[in-house]
Amino acid sequence: MTLPSSPRIRCTRRLEFDAAHRVMEHESKCRHLHGHRYVIEASFEAAELDALDRVIDFGVIKERLGAWIDEHWDHATILNVRDRALGDAIAAQTAQRIYYIEGNPTAEKMAEYLFTAICPRLFAEAGVRCTKLRLYETPNCYADIQ
Ligand SMILES: [Zn+2]
Repeated sequence: MTLPSSPRIRCTRRLEFDAAHRVMEHESKCRHLHGHRYVIEASFEAAELDALDRVIDFGVIKERLGAWIDEHWDHATILNVRDRALGDAIAAQTAQRIYYIEGNPTAEKMAEYLFTAICPRLFAEAGVRCTKLRLYETPNCYADIQ
């Protein structure tokens, strides 16, 4: 007989932002600079619930991850590090913020970046861990990492 694994409580906060990106060498129209209303669903777990019976206060997720998004990605252009010529051209003409990531800024790579590089840094001392992150590029298309 196998026992079911113990239940785990995970809390999730939804955050939204607007950004431009393009997928270098895309076979179709996604190689052109365009924008999305992105949606993040970031889920967290803790070893135990806090004194008020929460994994983490939803407001703290917004204060930390939401603030990072506001500062770096909201109304920015997110580009592949190899796309510097485009980023430089945009920056020369506008006050647009350019944010470079390794690889193409697909939903998959953006989710991976938040999950591996940003969330651990933002939540380490809060005693919680981001255990799943979903990034919607459109209402119908998203990438998950966990
Ligand atoms: Zn796109």
